[in-house]
Amino acid sequence: MIKITIDEEACVGCTLCVDECPTDVFEFDEEKRIPRVVKEKECFGCLSCSEICPASAITHEDVIQSEEYYHDMDNIKLASRLAAEVHLPNSPSDDKHKKAALDDLGIRLLSVASVFRQTLGGSLPAVGTMAGRTLATQLPRYHVPEDFGEALKMAVEQFSPAWNLKPEYDGSSKLDIKVGKCFIRELCKDEGIELGGDLCVLFYNYIAGYLGKMGDARLKLLQSTPGDKECKYNVEVFTK
Ligand code: SF4
Ligand code: SF4
Repeated sequence: MIKITIDEEACVGCTLCVDECPTDVFEFDEEKRIPRVVKEKECFGCLSCSEICPASAITHEDVIQSEEYYHDMDNIKLASRLAAEVHLPNSPSDDKHKKAALDDLGIRLLSVASVFRQTLGGSLPAVGTMAGRTLATQLPRYHVPEDFGEALKMAVEQFSPAWNLKPEYDGSSKLDIKVGKCFIRELCKDEGIELGGDLCVLFYNYIAGYLGKMGDARLKLLQSTPGDKECKYNVEVFTK
């Protein structure tokens, strides 16, 4: 059986592991400001919690390789390939073709999101995060960002074909991101899908995973506010 250990001295009490775990293994002790392992048997060894932890405070023993879903290269490649194509539609340059390509991608994302949702319950955020992180490691590194602020600026440019990201960052822990143009919002409108659903969850976590990897930080979503013309995300940033 998998054994989970939390280094309580190292833990910074961010609650990211509690939010991230697809099977709700943790409960947060508000008084002591640390997570408790309450359902160890439910752990299936995805290692999302240790990946997201900014303090590297969570370790697992006896994780069988086949249980490491997010470390299975085929699954990672599938999720990252589907998501990676989102921000790389510079060709074809023709707007009509670009829209058709994005619509097609959106439909594929929608089906992959619902498959993940059905097969792995609440794991969609973790899948999005891993896909974003994987993308960050696959990009050519012409320029490695010096800090999280620079990673943000790079992301704005990087994702601009599909998303108009407008971040406001205070340089430490407070980050607000407004999203103007968004191909997922357009897709939801066209398909009659309510905003804020699986695609939006995948989108946010994809960006958060990418930013976390590029800027050596972990992001905690405090509030998301979908809107017809603009969506807002209030985020807390934990830099290492
Ligand atoms: S490894 Fe996955 S299932 Fe296990 S506690 Fe961590 S997040 Fe939860
Ligand atoms: S993610 Fe790490 S630092 Fe944050 S609460 Fe969990 S164990 Fe503590």
